[in-house]
Amino acid sequence: MRPEYAQVVVDIAVADLNQSFYYAIPEKYRELLRLGQVVTVPFGRQRRKGFIVGFAKQPALDLNKIRPIIKLERSEALFDQNMLRLLRWMASYYKSFLINTIKTALPAGLIEGKVSTKKINYVKLNRSTGEMGLLIKDLKKRAPQQSKVLDFLLKAERDYTVVELAKILSLNRSTVYTMIKKGYLSYQEDREHRRPFLQVDQSLSSAFQPTRAQAEVIAAINTGIKNKQAEVFLLHGITGSGKTEVYLQVIAGVIKRGGGAIVLVPEISLTPMMIKRFYSRFGNQIAVLHSHLSPGERYDEWCRLKNGTAKIAIGARSAVFAPIKELCLIIIDEEHENSYKQGENPYYHAREVALMRGKLEGLTVLLGSATPTLESYYRAKKGIFKYLNLPARVSQSSLPPVKIIDMREELKRGNTTIFSSELFAAIAQALKQKEQILIFLNRRGYASFVLCRECGRVIKCNNCDISLTYYAGANLLRCHYCNFSGKPPADCPACGSSSIREFGIGTERVAEELAKAFPGAFIDRMDVDTTGRKDSHRLILERLEKGRTDILVGTQMIAKGHDYPNISLVGVITADTILNLPDFRAAERTFQLLTQVAGRTGRGSKQGQVIIQSYDPEHYSIQAARNHDFNGFYRQEIAVREQLSYPPFSQLVNIIIKGRQEKPVIKGAMALGVFLKQYHQYLTTILGPSPAPLVRLRNKYRWQIILKFNDWGPRNFVLTEIKRVFLPEQSREVTYTIDVDPLKML
Ligand code: ADP
Ligand code: ZN
Ligand code: ZN
Repeated sequence: MRPEYAQVVVDIAVADLNQSFYYAIPEKYRELLRLGQVVTVPFGRQRRKGFIVGFAKQPALDLNKIRPIIKLERSEALFDQNMLRLLRWMASYYKSFLINTIKTALPAGLIEGKVSTKKINYVKLNRSTGEMGLLIKDLKKRAPQQSKVLDFLLKAERDYTVVELAKILSLNRSTVYTMIKKGYLSYQEDREHRRPFLQVDQSLSSAFQPTRAQAEVIAAINTGIKNKQAEVFLLHGITGSGKTEVYLQVIAGVIKRGGGAIVLVPEISLTPMMIKRFYSRFGNQIAVLHSHLSPGERYDEWCRLKNGTAKIAIGARSAVFAPIKELCLIIIDEEHENSYKQGENPYYHAREVALMRGKLEGLTVLLGSATPTLESYYRAKKGIFKYLNLPARVSQSSLPPVKIIDMREELKRGNTTIFSSELFAAIAQALKQKEQILIFLNRRGYASFVLCRECGRVIKCNNCDISLTYYAGANLLRCHYCNFSGKPPADCPACGSSSIREFGIGTERVAEELAKAFPGAFIDRMDVDTTGRKDSHRLILERLEKGRTDILVGTQMIAKGHDYPNISLVGVITADTILNLPDFRAAERTFQLLTQVAGRTGRGSKQGQVIIQSYDPEHYSIQAARNHDFNGFYRQEIAVREQLSYPPFSQLVNIIIKGRQEKPVIKGAMALGVFLKQYHQYLTTILGPSPAPLVRLRNKYRWQIILKFNDWGPRNFVLTEIKRVFLPEQSREVTYTIDVDPLKML
């Protein structure tokens, strides 16, 4: 029975359209249409593209209203039933439109028809090998060039174009054309795969003999893969403990059994080094997906996965959607990284999508990190994830010593500069020994807080335990969660000192001070200001690598990435700037960042050292980072989360209200607040409305409402009600963005 109607999701962004529509299938397409194809359909008075998401014998609607599909745009099906189920789940979980989730999952520009395949002509031998052997002999004297070509192609392991042959064998192209005319060779049309980053000829490297700890971990994961029970593993191991080697060996096992795998890495670690490591183990079975590829290149890599030429996808966030045949395994390296969460609609987190894909397809999911998120570690403790541990570095080298400097003491001794005497001396010493130095600070221009330099107390909100943000213009302190506001106190409420003031130092200022103090040193700076241009990030790192840079000053960008053996000192100007961000994850971020920066040294032969300055040196996140003590940090932090009912003990939603004019934004935010309080206050805790920490961004005013839920059910209900009842009544001047499980609360 051939279906007569197709359900199509139309590519149009209208707030209340989240459904698919029925279209009649014209006779000529009856045998051709499949799920996941792109078609053009009539929509109102327009023509629109859309995706086929289902078929029916009978539509659920009035037959007279149904119009036919205009055109089949692509015969290729871009997703299958499993992927569609995942995308439907995503649309529902993140309260996004199905069309948006579909477009997120596919290579950019595909539906618009902006990317296409590039055809290329390869040259092929035309006769059997035996015949060719005779021909080569025959041609050797008469036409030695031609015999050379035949000889080369007989031994070749891949196809070559005319241009390539001419170049490699240094002969005239006309020689090859003559041979085609004579019928020795023929053209074969094929797709060219643009793979700019992999133009290295490498011999494949072999695996290490796993250590005993690695072997245990690998065995556990392999059992999980064989069971096909959608098990999730959390691999907790410090940097250098051999996690990546575990990934490589587990993948090798999967490939051997004919399966495929996805490896997600944070965008920033998608470096040539990292790709090379995988490439040298698996060669062309790897496809790389990341944002620095052109749309054409991305599409080509995607196609290699889809047609089975490549079995392993490595990429950032969106590689979680890679169309891999016989997929068995999804690995998420550095699972704590924020870049796994998309900062625009749909606001999905690649880890949550991977977990759901695992469930739908019976895949094993492997999360790896030196500093797992509280959420993941909590799930491991509960037995929802299986916990695996690699406690020591493969090289047996120890982690660098970390020293904490109490800046309050420095002040007491009359040192009012940004550098403690200890850090200052260590910098001078390292410079003298021609070693390199990283100076790290975390400063986001907008998040300033008020701190007592005498006792280290920061003014926080009584309701939310979140640092209050200081507004110099209005001389006001404000909570971005609950909208409490008040004048900053003149004296410290804890110790009565008057050394209480706004706090914040930028990288520019630190670099200036360093230049003054150490005039001979070459000082480089890495932050959002200096890495705006395309190449600047790479150039800064290159100068560091070549030894040109003595001191690199930077924000969290320098906490990640490469290892440089000549770095012997890492200094953190103030750990407090991260600790006092108006974000309930501030302590966790502090611990993660300090652990990461500490990992930047002590890699080479030199023993490194880390110096962290703080006004709150007893804080558990700083103490735990000093002692490399993840468990100690977890115990304290999980207690705080439970007490204040933050994730993993609740589920958050951040609703951002944006618009060009301030008044309608405030009015819209208030209206949503009233709606929620009136109808849903028993299902959710409502924080706000309040101005967002970034109250103006890209010329738009921003307010926010944070909702806390105990469970998925009430959350889904309230969000659906907002979309169904509240939003249709609102003015179009203001937009409402729903961020489910928000990570950035700024
Ligand atoms: P991680 O991903 O946890 O940082 P890696 O897998 O990169 O750790 O391992 C750290 C270093 O140890 C790398 O240089 C790697 O090549 C090496 N290594 C890993 N496993 C082994 C092993 N079993 N035997 C020898 N060297 C290993
Ligand atoms: Zn004080
Ligand atoms: Zn508050």
